[in-house]
Amino acid sequence: MGEDHARIIDATTERFGKDRGRLIDIARALQGELGHLSEETIGRIAGALDMHRVEVRDAVSFYSFFSREPTGKTVIRLCNGVVERMMGADEVARAFEEAVGARFGETEPGQSISMVYTPCIGLSDQAPSALVNKTPLTRLRRDDVPGIVEAVREGRDVSDLPQTEIKLNLHKTGPVICARLERGVAIRAAVNRSPADVINEINRARLRGRGGAGFPTAMKWDYCRRAGGDRHFVICNADEGEPGTFKDRVLLTGFADLVFEGMTVAAYAVGAREGFLYLRGEYEHLLGHLEEVLRKRRHLGLLGENICGCEGFSFDVRIQVGAGAYVCGEESALIESLEGRRGAPRDRPPFPVQSGYQGEPTSVNNVETLCCAARIMVEGAEWFARFGTKDSTGTKLLSVSGDCARPGVYEVEFGASVAKVLDMVGGADARGVQVGGPSGRCLGPRDYGRSISFDDVSTGGSFMVFGPQRDVLRMMYEFTEFFAEESCGWCAPCRVGMTLLVRQFEKILNGKGTRADQAALERLAVTVKNMSRCGLGQTGANPILTSLRNFPELYDARLRSEEFIAPFDLAEALREGRQITGRKPPLEGTHA
Ligand code: SF4
Repeated sequence: MGEDHARIIDATTERFGKDRGRLIDIARALQGELGHLSEETIGRIAGALDMHRVEVRDAVSFYSFFSREPTGKTVIRLCNGVVERMMGADEVARAFEEAVGARFGETEPGQSISMVYTPCIGLSDQAPSALVNKTPLTRLRRDDVPGIVEAVREGRDVSDLPQTEIKLNLHKTGPVICARLERGVAIRAAVNRSPADVINEINRARLRGRGGAGFPTAMKWDYCRRAGGDRHFVICNADEGEPGTFKDRVLLTGFADLVFEGMTVAAYAVGAREGFLYLRGEYEHLLGHLEEVLRKRRHLGLLGENICGCEGFSFDVRIQVGAGAYVCGEESALIESLEGRRGAPRDRPPFPVQSGYQGEPTSVNNVETLCCAARIMVEGAEWFARFGTKDSTGTKLLSVSGDCARPGVYEVEFGASVAKVLDMVGGADARGVQVGGPSGRCLGPRDYGRSISFDDVSTGGSFMVFGPQRDVLRMMYEFTEFFAEESCGWCAPCRVGMTLLVRQFEKILNGKGTRADQAALERLAVTVKNMSRCGLGQTGANPILTSLRNFPELYDARLRSEEFIAPFDLAEALREGRQITGRKPPLEGTHA
């Protein structure tokens, strides 16, 4: 290792106080500076942080933003999720490959540009999209690509390119979330009550977590407040990695004050002095804006010591940027990542409210949930509960993408029907809708009368529209592939089961499946769902299970025979070997 190299590593570990809990930050900084994390780099980091190199290697190898091999100075991450491919990402990919002279997954021979695929960067409403290092490009067309590559090669600032415009795309605002709120009003309303009264107000509003599971927020805060321990923490989960979800991008861009207001209310309620906003790595482009909002809030006395003049109430927020791992959206995996480890979910109990960040009681809340909590402080529980349904009060933000006239974010009251949303977004002729992202459910026209709510069709926000021309089963197959790729590998039912599901599904998709294969697919999907350890495995088979239920005719059309059909063509598989060895194929009807 050269002296310069060593100096950079030492300065970086020093900058983060040689704190092993900041390993992800250190690795992010060094990945940016050195282009990769070599074995030597890992060893030097380990030495500085007083860790074993295996621990460092174990953590950094988990995240897709870190590379053990040298990468180009510029990394182009093209989003190839289902919606992005529907909108032409494959064509854009070919254009990049032609312009760069390398394939995706490779670094060009001159080592200047690397290209990789990524499943979602939170811009499905402006697809196809890509990140050039951390700069997003939107609404890409094949013809844009030569100019982009030229700008990269000439070392120009890509943020000057016209494709870097990100539209807010907030098409429908509502009274609860996307409405103006004066800075500090919610905090003042909170500190005029006792922490127990704040929780009581949230309880009477019947606020449920907006991440999808719908756990009562007041109960979570109450458990956290009552748990022992010297320190309590609040975490805002802004790791929205569910493909097709981008509402947090809009909230963090247009309503960041409301988010921090909600975090501060939560901190007051649970007795936390420290909070974290865990920002997905793909949203690093929002970091400067968010830091500026925090700076202003500190200046106004809305963060720091004795907030809003409330003696003894002190709270501040640090933003932790992730490094590309879908499973970190799961709260315990997120905490692991925040502590500088691989983002593998923890066994529960204990739950994070009992033992979370650094083993202390921690409340992890969704971005949207915190916005609702701030509004409830100002408007009151009765006002909030007027919207929505009895068990799903308030409004919900939907991230709408796919085959519709107006993709973007919509604030709708709980209880709105799927048909109503489709009408609103210009997608009434949809063949199917994926509600809740890949882990949600695929609905067909028979279900369009159902309502968006926790008791019926629950969703963290993703609403993907598939037009009449789409092959819905292929979409479900791609979702299944996504989960197989994102499995953290900790438990066998998910690690092995998801891969087996992909293979079995592929057989059916390719017209080689029988009724028995379909039954085996369903059995395996149920097993993976029931036996997996965390939410990823427990929901990863949903694309298969919900499409089996709601689109049986699409499976029927693919099942060609009741007889056994091999999943692959043996003669074709042996063809190359025969050519090499000069062996002749056997006669028709004999064994290969
Ligand atoms: Fe990891 Fe999947 Fe098991 Fe969750 S279910 S712990 S993601 S292997």
